[in-house]
Amino acid sequence: MLTDDELCCPPNLYIDGKWVNALGGATRDIVNPADGTVIATVDEADRADAVAAVAAARAAFDTGDWPRTPVAERIAYLLRIADLLEADRDHLARIETLDTGKTLRESYIDVDDVVSVFRYYAHLAAAGADRLVDTGDPAVISRVVREPVGVCVLVAPWNYPLLQMSWKIAPALAAGCTMVAKPSEVTPLSTIALVRLIDRAGVPPGVVNLVQSSGATVGSALTDTPDVDLISFTGGAATGEVIAGNAAKHITRVALELGGKNPHIVFPDADFDSAVDAVLTGAFLHSGQVCSAGTRLIVHESMADEFVAALAVRARGITVGPGLDPASETGPLVSQAHRAKVEAYVALGIAGGARLVTGGARPDDPALQAGSFYLPTIFDHCQRSMRIVQEETFGPILTVERFTTDAEALALGNDTAYGLAAGVRTADPARAERFARGLRHGTVWLNDFGYYTPAAEWGGFGRSGIGRELGPSGLAEYQETKHIWLNTAPAVGGWFTHN
Ligand code: NAD
Repeated sequence: MLTDDELCCPPNLYIDGKWVNALGGATRDIVNPADGTVIATVDEADRADAVAAVAAARAAFDTGDWPRTPVAERIAYLLRIADLLEADRDHLARIETLDTGKTLRESYIDVDDVVSVFRYYAHLAAAGADRLVDTGDPAVISRVVREPVGVCVLVAPWNYPLLQMSWKIAPALAAGCTMVAKPSEVTPLSTIALVRLIDRAGVPPGVVNLVQSSGATVGSALTDTPDVDLISFTGGAATGEVIAGNAAKHITRVALELGGKNPHIVFPDADFDSAVDAVLTGAFLHSGQVCSAGTRLIVHESMADEFVAALAVRARGITVGPGLDPASETGPLVSQAHRAKVEAYVALGIAGGARLVTGGARPDDPALQAGSFYLPTIFDHCQRSMRIVQEETFGPILTVERFTTDAEALALGNDTAYGLAAGVRTADPARAERFARGLRHGTVWLNDFGYYTPAAEWGGFGRSGIGRELGPSGLAEYQETKHIWLNTAPAVGGWFTHN
């Protein structure tokens, strides 16, 4: 088991198999968003640390054994990491809750998912994806093989720190890549813990490197360099644009998992109570700080008043509180700065004429005043042109639009620059299938919302990103495809005949 010191105390940059302090000596305080207290102080990398981490990963790829390690050995490492994560489940869940604010129940779900993802990629790597091609010439053996893409930079956000980083590290290790992981500077603790377990599992030096710092400080060293072969980024669309621009300069491969503004469409034939419950959970889980949060309700006019009233009752009943308190159903926003952004969106909604049904304020419980809590908020009678409808507010804000025809509902569901996820609730299987195929989103949930599984691809259309994580595509992101043509009976070809 990891000790608290190992989790939180410097040195906690990990470069070339050694735990080191930042070269510049800088540190950063990590704050518990539930009460504003400092829970850890970690090393804050600067450009020189990031350059050293990329160099270590480059050397481990170019001259180390890892890319050439038999797949069975790499699988054993993945399974060992999964076992270590499972053994430290309580510890990891607690640290994730302290760092992000999410409830312990959510953190346990994240840790369990991460264990499954390491095991899934161990299983998938064992299956292999190489294939023989029939060229029509019996003398030729033609093979298409998968090889590790090379040095990967893995950048993760603060809302699912352990989970998002593991969705990258597990397939990258399975593929034989080396890597530099950069968690969000706001929530680095569970990634530090993960890398400690990877170290403990015996993964060779230089294969996994870790730097934590702000993106502004180390971003260009990690993403604007010819020494990196793939950048896999999860975060906001604006940062994704910068990273894609840097990658373009070097023709570096780039995988982007960006934001979402996800519609949840409810028809009158849907089961009412389960629809209310799913819309509520989809919008307010983790206080809306979920890329796939269903924060845009599109509900049939005939039932909208009744539906919104029922939702408001349930939203007012949500217990907002510290994630470690078992009574809490949702935690705080990740920081005071983030809450200020959410509050600005609420002000925009009010100014734009949306009707505030509930929330729109901080909780008045004196015990919550030091944390960055915000009440579940519903805006009714929203218009598609409003910024709170089109932009990712990344907080507990649900907007409501009404429709009358199926065509209108589909048009509203696709009326977004994003395209990460959508939900549809109806009892009509034919309508469900029409919407499943008509919605331009990477995941469509029918009569459910928010579920994912390691074996199914995750990612978005449009401004929600490029590429897919999880599933076989999530491994393919970390692989190059090579065609090997072997002629077993070489002979003069005779193309040029004049000399
Ligand atoms: P962010 O874009 O601000 O930061 C994400 C990461 O990028 C952080 O580690 C940050 O330090 C780093 N970064 C910032 N500038 C950088 C630069 N110039 N170069 C390199 N790295 C840089 O996002 P956030 O606020 O941490 O996370 C919230 C966003 O993440 C939301 O938009 C959410 O939808 C998205 N997200 C998407 C998914 C998905 O699967 N599609 C999952 C979770 C979160």
